[in-house]
Amino acid sequence: MGSITSVWGPMGTGKSTLIAKWKEGKTFWMDLELGAKRALSRVPNWESRIQLWHPYDEAEDEDTLKDLLDRMNAMRGEVLEGRVEYWETILRKFLTKCADFNTDIIAFDTWKEIWSANTQAFLQRVQETTPGAKPRQNLIQIEYGTPNSRMNSVLATARKFGKELILTSHERPVYVYGIDEDGKSTSYPDPEGSVELDGYKNTKDLVDWEFKSSVQRGCKENGKKIGPVTHKCTGTHFKYEILKSPVDAGHVGHVFTDLSHEMLSNFVTAQGYVMV
Ligand SMILES: [Zn+2]
Repeated sequence: MGSITSVWGPMGTGKSTLIAKWKEGKTFWMDLELGAKRALSRVPNWESRIQLWHPYDEAEDEDTLKDLLDRMNAMRGEVLEGRVEYWETILRKFLTKCADFNTDIIAFDTWKEIWSANTQAFLQRVQETTPGAKPRQNLIQIEYGTPNSRMNSVLATARKFGKELILTSHERPVYVYGIDEDGKSTSYPDPEGSVELDGYKNTKDLVDWEFKSSVQRGCKENGKKIGPVTHKCTGTHFKYEILKSPVDAGHVGHVFTDLSHEMLSNFVTAQGYVMV
């Protein structure tokens, strides 16, 4: 059985590294922000079990690719093009990998990109079906029903096929609401500096595990003997704090260093539970 793990945090805090080192098994990695290669540079023989993929890999030739890029880069204020195609390319590939017995792990890197592709595709359809002088630039609240249910069904499909899923996300400031000097309602970043997952807002409810990633630099233990083993590192470690556990709410707040699925599994077992 596969589980769904969400990891989010600032840039450079080991989200891609978590995918790279999570678990043995064939990994299909949607490298939508093209950041995977950097994380993989220190993972020996990654090519034997990890397949990197980007929707532009599906372009038949250089001209098609250039056309896709032009259309994807259309500025705000323009009529959206190519977004439906982009989203459907992602969805088609995902379903192919769900049905593929040789694929164990699927990574959405980032999950926000999936959310954007989904909502932009829907907005393009709205533009096409709402004639008017000015193309709509945003979805209205009530229209999010369809993109939301698409996200839910992506996760439900992965579960149905027993795939292990990893979702990475950046963080964004939490906005708070208040009244400005003129008495108008306004919103601004929380002065306390609180942050949240940037992307699909229901993610936490739908995943099994949620982690907040951070980085710890300047480790002084390199070369030191810790117990029976000599600690070897580059001086940098990634930290992963549990924000949600499917086994016990008491796990929340526990912090792992350089997490893998095996470490998580050992932790759960040591607490007297069975890993789901
Ligand atoms: Zn170290």
